[in-house]
Amino acid sequence: MTDAIYLDCNATTPLKPAVIAAMSAVLGEVGNASSVHRFGRVARRMVEDSRAEVAQLVGAAPRQVIFTSGGTEANSQVLAGETRRVLVSAIEHDSVLKAADAEFIPVDSDGRVDVAALETMLATSGCDTTIAVMLANNETGVIQPIADVARIAKAHRAHVHCDAVQAAGKIAIDMAALGVDTLTLSAHKFGGPQGVGALIVRDGVEIAPLLVGGRQEHGRRAGTENVAAIHGFGVAAALARRELDGMNTLAQRRDAMEAQLRQATPAVVFSSGAARLPNTSCIAMPGVSAETQVMAFDLAGIAVSAGSACSSGKIQPSHVLQAMGVAPALAGSAIRVSAGWSTTAAQTEKFVEQWIGLWARLGARDGRSAPAA
Ligand code: PLP
Repeated sequence: MTDAIYLDCNATTPLKPAVIAAMSAVLGEVGNASSVHRFGRVARRMVEDSRAEVAQLVGAAPRQVIFTSGGTEANSQVLAGETRRVLVSAIEHDSVLKAADAEFIPVDSDGRVDVAALETMLATSGCDTTIAVMLANNETGVIQPIADVARIAKAHRAHVHCDAVQAAGKIAIDMAALGVDTLTLSAHKFGGPQGVGALIVRDGVEIAPLLVGGRQEHGRRAGTENVAAIHGFGVAAALARRELDGMNTLAQRRDAMEAQLRQATPAVVFSSGAARLPNTSCIAMPGVSAETQVMAFDLAGIAVSAGSACSSGKIQPSHVLQAMGVAPALAGSAIRVSAGWSTTAAQTEKFVEQWIGLWARLGARDGRSAPAA
């Protein structure tokens, strides 16, 4: 896989070398973080050091961090079994969409949540409401106006949950400035291990445990802590904070890549008018299905993903593009290209080369041109 090019970092990122080194050292050790003997105390220290690092990544205090098995669990802990009215943006990840019986807040054609529509929806409910809006979308990279959402929500004393899984490590996050009550993180989206994440809870907010049967995480999440993974999460969080400036380079490369594709082919770049994560492009090659593109790029040694969900072997149109009002045919030809800390300029150039070649072979042959987005 050495020559293969991985451009699917919104699905998962490679572990950073320092994370591998740190976790490898811990895997050889024994110790339950709840044990009182020295082995347990060493494990506890590691968990608490990581808690401090993860808290710092989002400007929170360590006591506010609950370690979970990942983003899905953290989202579920807030939303599953919610008895209040639940409003979620129409472009949320499935772990939010499927967690509760929710009403959808619409988005505009760039994929930004419609704050005015939220205000109207809230006018018919009082403080018995939970709102979930993600900080950045996993398919388009669009950064959402969370501070505005929170301001309106607070006027109605609603709970605001923010899934920041895709934003962490790519843009700076200050939970207090965002004004949200709960926030979700996942380590594997920024160079940490899979299977570990966190729910960050504002002081004074009551959150019931999803998993019961132990007093871990101050009674808010039962189960023996995954010490090695939590340690890796902490190292990844510290690195992400230090390396945030490097994201400007990714953004410049991404913009140059999109410009080249648009110049050489009728590529349609979604949400290019909105503030986006520095690493994400959602691009359609009109007339060529996303499935065909993903396979063709894979054969050329490049991993990208379809801007759509795969369920029971069938590619479903992306609910995100659908919510943005993109025509089904165009949405069906959209792929997601997501770079990361390990992506080089040469790899991005190779992708551009392959895209242009693919368009020449499959797209341009019957003289197609781009339909409107
Ligand atoms: N939320 C968003 C926006 C995601 O992109 C993902 C993963 O793709 C998740 C939640 C789920 O996170 P995890 O894989 O840690 O369960």
